Amino acid sequence: MTTLIDGRKAALRIREQVAEKVARAAHVHGRVPGLATILVGDDPASAVYVAAKRRAIREAGMSDMHHTLPEHASHKDVAAVIDQLADDPDVCGILLQLPLPKGLDAAALIDHIPVSKDVDGLTTASAGLLARGVDGLRPCTPAGVLCLLDAEDIELRGAHAVVVGHSELVGRPMVRMFLQRDATVTVAHKHTVDLPAVTRQADILVVAAGVRGLIGREHVKPGAVVVDVGIHRTANGLRGDVRSGELHGHARLLTPVPGGVGPMTIAMLLANTLQAFEQERLCR
Ligand code: NAD
Repeated sequence: MTTLIDGRKAALRIREQVAEKVARAAHVHGRVPGLATILVGDDPASAVYVAAKRRAIREAGMSDMHHTLPEHASHKDVAAVIDQLADDPDVCGILLQLPLPKGLDAAALIDHIPVSKDVDGLTTASAGLLARGVDGLRPCTPAGVLCLLDAEDIELRGAHAVVVGHSELVGRPMVRMFLQRDATVTVAHKHTVDLPAVTRQADILVVAAGVRGLIGREHVKPGAVVVDVGIHRTANGLRGDVRSGELHGHARLLTPVPGGVGPMTIAMLLANTLQAFEQERLCR
């Protein structure tokens, strides 16, 4: 029996909890968290993602503070917007939508975001806090994966977690988060030799390779928990990195695409913004 993990339901629960806390803050402090999104250029997929994030921000009762910059914006232009938002006391969180147009240095621009407003958890400072195991704002997608595993009561301590993919956005922070929870962690990537032999060791397999259908039955130990982070737009809708049809009756738990990790990413963005807001109030 394979159970599908319902990411939409879990995400909705988090979004409702965040909205309740935002409403209480509005009532008690007369203030709500403000989240500023920055979209540079006209990549259609990025525009769709930012629109979804802004909708979620408003639905949570937060203040939606959006900035659009043209495709030809310079490093200085983008940095100036970030610096201005960094100084704005009404802004609790800053999100620079990736990817950026060619020619812009994403890592350098992200590092303009102050660690206290880094609701995407992608600055070098936030990565350092995570690497040290110190509290901080965590990258939304791996944080969402942990949240789903926790909601299913999956024991992480001592479990063998295999993460496929080692990007700064998903794979690396996922590895660090598993380590912080005392899992035994293996990380695989595109240069890994004999991927099925590595992934078959996993009690928990997280796949974030960005390769459609990369993982099938031969990669998965019977009874494993499989989390599919991949997102691919196809003529038949969204698909993941996992050939999920092959895992029914083989894996114990599986996240579907769509409706698995994807909805959790936005929910964790809202949760991070609330965390930044509460932290900032404590520091005032
Ligand atoms: P990336 O391209 O930055 O990194 C891909 C990683 O996978 C690299 O470490 C690479 O070495 C590894 N890889 C590539 N081919 C491989 C192979 N054949 N075997 C083993 N490893 C391989 O991608 P990313 O930004 O980490 O995103 C990964 C996927 O997750 C993409 O499909 C992306 O769309 C999706 N994603 C989803 C969410 C969400 O909210 N669900 C969020 C972020 C990214």
